[in-house]
Amino acid sequence: MHPTVQLLLIEDDDDDALLVARELDDLEEPVAITRVDSAEGLALALTRQRWDAVVSDYLVPGFCGLAALRQVRRFDEHLPFILVSSTIGEDVAVEAMRSGACDYVMKSRLARLAPALQRELRAAAERRDHAVRERAQRERLEYLACHDPATGLANRSLMIERMNVARSAAGSGHDLAVVVLQAGGLGRIEEVHGSPAVDAILREAARRIMEASPGCRPARIAAERFALLVTPLAQAASEAIAAASSVLRAAFERPFAAADGEHTVRAALGIEQFAPGEMTAETALRNAEAAAQRAQANGLAQLAYAGHMGQDAAATLAMERRLRRAVIDGKLDLHYQPKVHCASGIVTGAEALLRWHDHELGAVPPSVFVPLLEETGLIGDVFDWVVERSLADRRAWAARGIVVPRIAVNVSVLQLRAADFATRLDALLARAAAHDAIELEVTESVLMEDVQGCIEKLATLRGRGVRVSIDDFGTGFSSLSYLARLPLDAVKIDRTFVAAMLGQATGRTLVEGIIGLAHALHLEVVAEGVETEEQRRFLSRLGCDEAQGFWIARPMPAAALGIFMHSDARTAAQTPALASTTIDTPSARPAAPVWRYECATLPGKPSTSPAASS
Ligand code: C2E
Ligand code: CA
Ligand code: CA
Repeated sequence: MHPTVQLLLIEDDDDDALLVARELDDLEEPVAITRVDSAEGLALALTRQRWDAVVSDYLVPGFCGLAALRQVRRFDEHLPFILVSSTIGEDVAVEAMRSGACDYVMKSRLARLAPALQRELRAAAERRDHAVRERAQRERLEYLACHDPATGLANRSLMIERMNVARSAAGSGHDLAVVVLQAGGLGRIEEVHGSPAVDAILREAARRIMEASPGCRPARIAAERFALLVTPLAQAASEAIAAASSVLRAAFERPFAAADGEHTVRAALGIEQFAPGEMTAETALRNAEAAAQRAQANGLAQLAYAGHMGQDAAATLAMERRLRRAVIDGKLDLHYQPKVHCASGIVTGAEALLRWHDHELGAVPPSVFVPLLEETGLIGDVFDWVVERSLADRRAWAARGIVVPRIAVNVSVLQLRAADFATRLDALLARAAAHDAIELEVTESVLMEDVQGCIEKLATLRGRGVRVSIDDFGTGFSSLSYLARLPLDAVKIDRTFVAAMLGQATGRTLVEGIIGLAHALHLEVVAEGVETEEQRRFLSRLGCDEAQGFWIARPMPAAALGIFMHSDARTAAQTPALASTTIDTPSARPAAPVWRYECATLPGKPSTSPAASS
């Protein structure tokens, strides 16, 4: 059923009007004709309702078709307008078309009117559709420019705009505040479960915020950040901020249901309270973000911005840039720290430890730059490099008759979370045919985050001959019950326990407990941070399998490890070449061990071990 065409007919003659009406009977759509015959009538009609088309006689007494056309055009530049005339000359016709008439029809050939009108109506409909589509598209673009498509919340730029509006509206003496919520661990969920899982979490988080305060206008200002503006604060600033904080906190307070259980997302808040004239909206928002980041890094629920945080952020950014450069330029280095059989001192392997010496910053500790490698996503490539470089060094030692049975490499939190961790490392080791040359040291807390995922990845690698051990064991005690389920070869007792072991009875019991439990599960035990002979002997008595620590050797460059493996430990301690390569602390090396090192040698080669020659 077509809608009725509203046609405005400008015609003074009844008979002609009838003729026109009859011609239009053939139109597909029903037509409702309204007739006027004066400028006043036309003006009134144009303002009173919406018209689909105008058909006008060229000659109306006291009124002319061209004048009518101009009047219509002033009102609506696209309304279809068709002139009908018995006496229209070529020149008038041309002028009419120029003035915006769509067509003209001679009264002698009135049969043309219906098709002409039909055509114009269709063109008008298309124009309308096009305009509607265009408007919808424009509105969508405008929407996308200031909203987050995943949650439908305002995005960063709209947040800044709202903050600017609030700054101009707020009178002096009325502070504003912005609260930023930083969520942690969404990246990991995305890696394991894909971005639809994260989008679902974000949508639910946004819904919870709106539920907590239906009138509020939160924004999603970055991938893992939401923000809320508190405006303007009179006396009760702290209460208003607290209220806004609890609204945001509602987002991640409860876990999120997932197909295979639930996801828990940790969140921290950062707050910046500021006077409207004091700083720009961008600065205030960035400050709140820096505070949130700092809160999260320190495991705090929330922090208010303090001046130095921004400087810290800037310094971190600068260091990040230098680190990127260092990675690209191949300026990272590896040092090796031997692991020995606890009772005999025979070297069982070495741990590869990253080193970065920047010409301006000096030696930057791994505890500072490894997290940066993780944040910047460089860690994956650097890890591959560590493995390749360790294997190359191991081959170089072997060429000189020195066998380092295994190199232990540290696996960062973020890497193990990556879905392709196992396949990537497997391919790399397959190329070098060196699965049994590598040991992975995975920190306990990482394993605990995603036990099932870790089991699968590590089991694959372990099945191919890679050795797997838990690093810093004991720092997350929840894991004891998981020990049996994880595909492991060894646990490395964290050095804090080794350090406390001889002082207090509880420390000793703890170490004893770990060794007993690990052995019951057929796992080897490595003690790290062994700094004295007394510790080494004590551990040996408790049945600890391997030891690593400053008392045995500090981490050292590859060349120095070669020398170390060739020499008696006592001699090594006195060798200036080696002493100068003990980069970690220039202070004197602890007293030499009383028992001797031996190093395994390649079959067929004469033993170079001083133990064998003395
Ligand atoms: P970690 O895996 O626990 O490495 C052992 C750390 O203990 C090393 O510090 C080593 O120098 C130090 N250490 C060794 N013996 C002793 C000792 O007797 N006493 C004391 N007090 N410390 C000892 P470093 O090299 O500064 O490394 C710190 C952390 O940085 C490592 O802890 C590891 O988590 C991380 N790291 C180092 N290299 C890499 C790497 O290639 N990849 C990843 N993901 N992390 C790395
Ligand atoms: Ca380690
Ligand atoms: Ca460790």
